[in-house]
Amino acid sequence: MARYTGSVCKLCRREGLKLFLKGDRCFSPKCAIEKRNYPPGEHGQRRRVKLTNYGLQLREKQKMKRIYGIVERQFRNYFRMAEQQKGITGENLLRFLERRLENVVYRLGFASSRAEARQMVTHGHFLVNGRRVDIPSYLVDSGDHIQVAERSRELLAIKGALEGVKKRGFPSWLELDAQAMRAVVRALPAREDMVIPVQEQLVVALYSK
Ligand code: SF4
Repeated sequence: MARYTGSVCKLCRREGLKLFLKGDRCFSPKCAIEKRNYPPGEHGQRRRVKLTNYGLQLREKQKMKRIYGIVERQFRNYFRMAEQQKGITGENLLRFLERRLENVVYRLGFASSRAEARQMVTHGHFLVNGRRVDIPSYLVDSGDHIQVAERSRELLAIKGALEGVKKRGFPSWLELDAQAMRAVVRALPAREDMVIPVQEQLVVALYSK
C-alpha cells in the first residue's frame, strides 16, 4: 500500500492545525505548528485566499485522511461502506476509521502515533481475541479483546507510549488494563467518543456530488 513519506509536520502546517502525527514531539515546543503556523512552501506566508465550498470540503477530507494516515483509494472504500450502512454516513465513516486496529493500538496508548502503531501491528506485537493480527486495517468489534503479545511486553516503545497516553486522554469506548497490557472494546464509538477536529458532513458532501 502506497504511503506518504514526506515531512508529516508539513501536513499539519498545510491544514493549519495539529494533527498529532509525531508522538511526543507534538506536545513539545519543537512542534512545527508552534513555531511556523503558516502553510509550507515559498508563498506560505502570503495572505490566505478565501476558500470556496469545494475547497472547504476538500480540506476536511484531506485532514481526515491525514489524521488516520489513509490513502485515497482506501478512504473511498470506507466511504462506500459507510454509505451502505444504516445511520449517518459521516459518523459511520469516522467509526470505520476509529475501528482500525492501528488506531485502536494508538488510542490505547501502546504506541505514540498511528504511524508507530501501524509498524508495531505489522511486526506482530498484538493479539486480538488471543490470535496474532498483523493487519493494521483490521476492524475491531464490540467485545474484542486486544493484548500485547507475551514476547513484546518488555518493549520500551510500548512502555514509553503508555506513559504518554495521559497527555492526550483516553476514549471511553475502550477499557485498558495497563498493568496486564490488555484491553477490551466496550462498545463501538458514538460520535462524541470520536474526538477529531473534522466536519465529516463536508466530506460526505464532497463525495456525494
Ligand atoms: Fe504536527 Fe506533531 Fe509535527 Fe506538530 S510535531 S506539526 S502536531 S506532526
